[in-house]
Amino acid sequence: MKLSDIGEFGLIERIRRSVAPGDGVHRGIGDDAAELQLPDGHHLLTSTDLLIEGIHFRRDWTTSEALGHKAVAVNLSDIAAMAGTPRFLYLGLACPGDTDLQEIDAFLAGALDEAKAFGVTLVGGDTCRSPGPWMISVTVEGSVPSGKAIGRNGARAGDVVMVSGTLGDSALALRILTDGGHPDPYLSSRHHRPTPRVDLGQELGKKGLPTAMIDLSDGLTSDLEHILQSSHVDGMIDLAELPLSTAFLHQAERDTLVRELALHGGEDYELLFTVPPERVAEATALGVAMGIPVRPIGAISAGQGRLAVREADGTLQTIRVRGFDHFCQSSGEKGLA
Ligand code: ADP
Ligand code: MG
Repeated sequence: MKLSDIGEFGLIERIRRSVAPGDGVHRGIGDDAAELQLPDGHHLLTSTDLLIEGIHFRRDWTTSEALGHKAVAVNLSDIAAMAGTPRFLYLGLACPGDTDLQEIDAFLAGALDEAKAFGVTLVGGDTCRSPGPWMISVTVEGSVPSGKAIGRNGARAGDVVMVSGTLGDSALALRILTDGGHPDPYLSSRHHRPTPRVDLGQELGKKGLPTAMIDLSDGLTSDLEHILQSSHVDGMIDLAELPLSTAFLHQAERDTLVRELALHGGEDYELLFTVPPERVAEATALGVAMGIPVRPIGAISAGQGRLAVREADGTLQTIRVRGFDHFCQSSGEKGLA
């Protein structure tokens, strides 16, 4: 069966039927607007991401189900980066009318499964026909106790830069795919099925550990630079301290790929944050307790947003940031185009 066989309203009804009631949802799919409630004393957090076929994903490189998961995961990651709790989800979807309903069902199953895993309810969206590429717009709303959100602007001279998980796996998988190869299952899942660090972000926030935080979507250097510029400080990354997976080390020729992919590659969806030096041990211990490696990779100093890398031989090199920028031809990797 094709999407055109059930039509827009058939699809909306199909989506509505697959959504279970959720906390704080007075009115979900089916009215002119959703009616929602946040816990008392909390602020609303909201974030949107667009995913365009041919720019952010290729349907011959992934499954529709993984695509559904990822579309939601990358949004949850933004709420995690604010130390918030994700709650409500909106899904804008444009596909050609001749799309197999099976593909849509698989996409929805992935998206709803990812949402459910984090206690998030789909409460609305929009559906229309696309002349070609799939276009997916996901919005997530979450909450955070008033005054407890962690922004990009709180890093202070003397803070230590920390990161969760490992770096570069997703960009390496994309590089292998682009070169016509097949990434191993671990690298592939890091690219196609990223895990948003929602619990870690909340726990870091509860303990008041990060002075600034961001999720890694554009690349380590690019995303750290956002913190540096918002916080009006300089930063240093110690190349020797970057956390790399066994699979990454196995495939990478250390010198070139570490620089290229771990330093500049996008879509790791790990948390990058700064903490005062006396609280590094606490942050590391929290990571151990949660089973997510968290480690120091650099330092913040007084300055105006410059970023330097300490090379393996100990020399410091100021670097030109080149994370992914959709409108800049010479930017680093993330999208396909
Ligand atoms: P409107 O004409 O006001 O845009 P629609 O007929 O598009 O209303 O939508 C009807 C209801 O279905 C609304 O609650 C809307 O949020 C929901 N909805 C539409 N498309 C989607 C979708 N892709 N996912 C989830 N909910 C959707
Ligand atoms: Mg509509």
